Amino acid sequence: MAGLLSIQEPNPQANDNTVKHSREHIAQLFDLPLMDLLLQAQTIHRQNFDANEVQISTLLSIKTGNCPEDCGYCSQSGHHRDKTKLQAEKRLEVDKVIAAAKRAKASGSSRFCMGAAWKHPSAKDMPYVVELVKEVKSLGLETCMTLGMLNPEQAAQLADAGLDYYNHNLDTSRRYYEEVVSTRSYDERLDTLAHVRDSGINVCSGNIVGMGESREDRIDWVHELLKMPKAPESIPVNLLVPIAGTPIGDKVLAEGELSVLEWIRTIAVTRICCPSSYVRLSAGRESLSDAEQALAFMAGANSFFYGDKLLTTGNASQSNDNRLMRELGLTAQFAAPRAAKQVPVMDAMSGHQSQVVLAE
Ligand code: SF4
Repeated sequence: MAGLLSIQEPNPQANDNTVKHSREHIAQLFDLPLMDLLLQAQTIHRQNFDANEVQISTLLSIKTGNCPEDCGYCSQSGHHRDKTKLQAEKRLEVDKVIAAAKRAKASGSSRFCMGAAWKHPSAKDMPYVVELVKEVKSLGLETCMTLGMLNPEQAAQLADAGLDYYNHNLDTSRRYYEEVVSTRSYDERLDTLAHVRDSGINVCSGNIVGMGESREDRIDWVHELLKMPKAPESIPVNLLVPIAGTPIGDKVLAEGELSVLEWIRTIAVTRICCPSSYVRLSAGRESLSDAEQALAFMAGANSFFYGDKLLTTGNASQSNDNRLMRELGLTAQFAAPRAAKQVPVMDAMSGHQSQVVLAE
């Protein structure tokens, strides 16, 4: 049996927040006895974070339903609306978004995430989302958006407004991706993530576990994160909430759901491979027991969504989260919003590019 820590072989060339495990090492981590894997993940977690502190975000849908994409798990896709019967809604007014952000802050969230069911924001949507970023930031909250694909100009506009994080999930491995989405390619997703990274906005990118993918696909997804120039600062590891009427939801409901322990394993391997990233629990928490959620935190998760609703699916109730945090002795981390004006600068000697904050 592999020794507890001997299986780690970080690449000395790695100069970012990623430990450059080979695909083979990622597979070996997945194969470890669960207790060995948890101990290793928790040890690495403690070397990089306060083990009893969690970052809390609130997610709000600012434009719901009738999305032109065909993601096979999503109730918001216009391709599945005949079966899911999800009611599409117009863009939410700015004052309603601000009111929701104030409530989120009052309840202890440090980050406010806004999601729109778009293929990409249109030219007429950009002033709206830029205004939202500025207004929410002025409340002292970190901001995050998930709006679909971005081009470099849109990423720069959002960066200039001060957006802290942009979420764009890879969802799964490149191989399994074609079973999940046909209207947007894997490379287009990676392009958007590259534009976000180049703009100076923090990257949030994760997956959905339990869509019928194999462990090989979960290994490949972790490997994709490590192939990026820098691992995402925030990595949501979602557990599929199977929604009747969606192709993947119907398949999983008929064939059976993945073991929660495999999701826990995925969290632990992600923690080990991306030691300084926030690993986020989001979709799927509603159906988990206290003990299963505690195991996820033990595996290195240190961020979750607060609130009774995640875009369109249910979430663990806020009062239940407060009780669970008290029982586990977890405390909430405070916000540290990114300054609005940053410019990329290149070190003439090393060629290394970094962001410099301009004085207001
Ligand atoms: S996951 Fe996002 S992009 Fe895909 S259908 Fe749902 S809202 Fe649209």
